[in-house]
Amino acid sequence: MAAYIKQFSIPFSFTKRIKNLWLNLSIYQKMIIGYMLIVIMVVAVSIYTITILFKLNAISSSILSRDIALIDINKRMINSLLSQDRSKENYLLLGDEVFLNAFQEKKREMIKDLSSLERLADTQKERDEIEFFKRLYFDYTNVKEAADIDAQKIKNSRQIDDMIKTLEGINLYREGVINKKTENFKETGGNAARLSLIISMIAFVFGITFAFFVTISISKPIERLKQETTNIAKGDFNRRIDIDSKDEIGELAAAFNTMCYKLNELERLKSDFITNISHEFRTPLTSLKEANKLLLDGIAGETTEKQQRLLKIIKEEGDKLIKMINNLLDLSKMEAGMIKYNFVPSDINIVIEKAVNEIRLLAERKSIDLKLEIKDRLPIIPMDSEKIQQVMINLLSNAVKFTHEGGKIIVKAHTEDSNIYVAVKDTGIGIAKENLQKIFDKFQQVDTGINHKLRGTGLGLSIAKHIIETHHGKIWAESRLGKSSSFIFILPIKIG
Ligand code: ADP
Repeated sequence: MAAYIKQFSIPFSFTKRIKNLWLNLSIYQKMIIGYMLIVIMVVAVSIYTITILFKLNAISSSILSRDIALIDINKRMINSLLSQDRSKENYLLLGDEVFLNAFQEKKREMIKDLSSLERLADTQKERDEIEFFKRLYFDYTNVKEAADIDAQKIKNSRQIDDMIKTLEGINLYREGVINKKTENFKETGGNAARLSLIISMIAFVFGITFAFFVTISISKPIERLKQETTNIAKGDFNRRIDIDSKDEIGELAAAFNTMCYKLNELERLKSDFITNISHEFRTPLTSLKEANKLLLDGIAGETTEKQQRLLKIIKEEGDKLIKMINNLLDLSKMEAGMIKYNFVPSDINIVIEKAVNEIRLLAERKSIDLKLEIKDRLPIIPMDSEKIQQVMINLLSNAVKFTHEGGKIIVKAHTEDSNIYVAVKDTGIGIAKENLQKIFDKFQQVDTGINHKLRGTGLGLSIAKHIIETHHGKIWAESRLGKSSSFIFILPIKIG
């Protein structure tokens, strides 16, 4: 068993080594290696095909220039023999010189053909046959005055038969050679076609697989980088990408991770700084506020009307500063996960009504018509009432802040599917489309050109978003610039 495992551990470590080698290559090197392999395969197929074509060409030209030529000469020689025999017979019979001349003419041609035949014959068997034929032929061509014409005729015809048989034998043998060569031709061609097809298929499959892997190895990490960059853009710097390869993408991922780490560090430093500074500010500010109150109450002595006005301004600005610092502390605690949520089944109707009533006085001061419209009572849901109240107060005070005197604010709520929808709609200054998302980011205030007094901290909506998202809900804004704004949030009836 151990030996069996050992036997298989070698290829495993080998593939591991190949994988490591591959991971260490750059994309450029990977592409070059892949394409080189494909090119080598294509060149190998081409060289092999060309070699086979040469071989096939050699076979076909040897059939045409040797075998068929040899058979043709043989056939011509057979015809010539028959015509020589006729001339010889006539000459012996009639003694006419014309027949002797015709015979001699055919004999010259025959000798030429014989030498061509000797040149073309490439086997010992054929050469022996030709030698045998030559002997028969020269014996036959030795024309003498015949004493016994009949006996001579019989001898001639036997010789002719023997010669024709010899030539036909050579032909038969050559036809066999042609058959063999044709078979060889077919087999070589077929094998070559098969092998070329197999190598081409391998090259094709390899090419496709290679292209697939290279594309995947590039597009997959890029897709991850894209996703993670989107998360960074949303402000989540706690991201990491694990990519093993050491190629350009691997380097990009490593640079991305370093960037995330540094951004995270910066974010932490910023948060720590804000928390510390807020803490440091809060104590002296509270003392200032107390001292101011004592002055306003006249405990430290009588104050003139002018001094009272100035003390009131100090009080208002001090309150604003304390609110701002509290908001800053709240948000940094929320981001650090240090704020505890008290999720208990609660009546959101009461929370909304309470918030509306709290803001009513502020609205009346600006003669704003504040209405609450809840047709059907909303169900009890698990939530932290205080936090949702904080969201409502923020949305309502913004609505009052950004709505002109005599305007309208409507709070509507309803249940749809498994969510509760709450909307705070005003007829205020509105928000430009490009700022609808931005306003939920920290410290984002849109320059509306309105009274500077209306400017807050730019933290209220970020806190609201944090609270709603911790409740697994969603918050967004819709608006018609210069006409109206709606802030809508949804809360799930059941969490989880
Ligand atoms: P703050 O109100 O303290 O500046 P917020 O985070 O509550 O901070 O709001 C951010 C910005 O969103 C505001 O400065 C304002 O430009 C815009 N905004 C919020 N509510 C409204 C509204 N009801 N109408 C018009 N603009 C609004």
